[in-house]
Amino acid sequence: MHDLPDSIPALWSAQAHMPSVLGRQLVIDRGEGNYVFTADGRRLFDGTAGLWHANIGHGRPEMAEVAAAQIRRLETYHVFGRYVNDRALELAEKVASVAPIDDARIILNSGGSDSIDVALKLARRYWQLRGRPERTAILSRDLAYHGLHAYGTSVAGLDFNREGYGTDSLVPDTVRFDTYDIERVRETVERVGPHRIAAIIAEPIQGTGGVIPPTPGYLEGLQAIADEHDILLILDEVITGFGRTGEWFAAQRYGLRPHIVAMAKGISSGYSAVGGIIVAPELWRPFYEADAPIYRHGTTYSGHATAAALALENLAIIEREGLLGRVRELEAVLETELAGLAGDDRVAQVRHAGLLGGIELRPEVSAEQVTDRMVEQGWIARPLRGNVIQLSPPFTTTDAELRELVAAVPTAMDALRGAPVPAAAR
Ligand code: PMP
Repeated sequence: MHDLPDSIPALWSAQAHMPSVLGRQLVIDRGEGNYVFTADGRRLFDGTAGLWHANIGHGRPEMAEVAAAQIRRLETYHVFGRYVNDRALELAEKVASVAPIDDARIILNSGGSDSIDVALKLARRYWQLRGRPERTAILSRDLAYHGLHAYGTSVAGLDFNREGYGTDSLVPDTVRFDTYDIERVRETVERVGPHRIAAIIAEPIQGTGGVIPPTPGYLEGLQAIADEHDILLILDEVITGFGRTGEWFAAQRYGLRPHIVAMAKGISSGYSAVGGIIVAPELWRPFYEADAPIYRHGTTYSGHATAAALALENLAIIEREGLLGRVRELEAVLETELAGLAGDDRVAQVRHAGLLGGIELRPEVSAEQVTDRMVEQGWIARPLRGNVIQLSPPFTTTDAELRELVAAVPTAMDALRGAPVPAAAR
């Protein structure tokens, strides 16, 4: 055990290697538009929109007013049994109106990991109800990230997120399949046995795995396999939902017909903790029959009224300010700027879809070191698995800011030239 500083904060950041971050934590205490400020007064461009969530930018006064007004009227009331609140009803109507599923019903909760739990439990509960209890297996992609609750951990395609809990026994019956090649997915489905599979879950564009857009025909292939074998298709749109690809949902961009869509992040742009699922009629109708069981997966804050009011205002801002169209414009700028970087001999590959960019560096350069240097120069970017730099700024980013953000990558690499590279960069 090496020495720790004399005084360490009470907060355990559960997604950080604490010994490495102590003494160098970046304390953010203010946000304004596309920028956040550290407690010691530095101004940083938020080139990742936090964890891909701050889509409308930070510190919006209209959001503060909505929260204050809602709390004065009603902070929240639960949605168990006969009780419900008006904001939860309104938010569900709004989400259903832009959803990639017709006649959908919406379950609300508090975040992305919650939405994965509720989606995967629903898949299994549905097959039980249909008299097919043997359909329990959940198939997910290699490199997938579906949050870190128990079910999300069990279906993780990033090994470091699954390891250490008793591999494959935390929630049993989960199987990974290939992320790139649809023929290999078919092989996995055959090996597991289609009649045993409850659902296939996939991020349309893999985020944490390294910003990996689908190979041509891949998502359509997943749809075909699901259709052919009566397997449920669940899309994890926690990152891609609510505009990140220039459409409300990536399902619309890629022409997919999912049974369940998981959502969070962009539904409120982080102004409140909201997640949930969008459910197709085939799945919700059996639970609306007179003799049906209750689908038991509610939480105290499912449909939290203030959280919902903020999500509604966020969606209204996206519409008022034409931010879906703006993402499409920014995608073109990102594409051009990344293409310019592709020729740099320190860059292995550039990838993008919508306002999501990934820059994979050659092993001689460390994404972790580059992003550390970028933040010193005022640009937040994030190192992902595979030596990739994530760029996913707010939808309110200007063309000039996006160009400068991409340019900050080679500038930081130049500044680092000659510096030693650590053995492992995740
Ligand atoms: N699914 C995906 C695709 C995500 O990117 C994330 C979060 N990064 C989650 C689920 C989990 O969401 P949360 O952190 O809000 O629980």
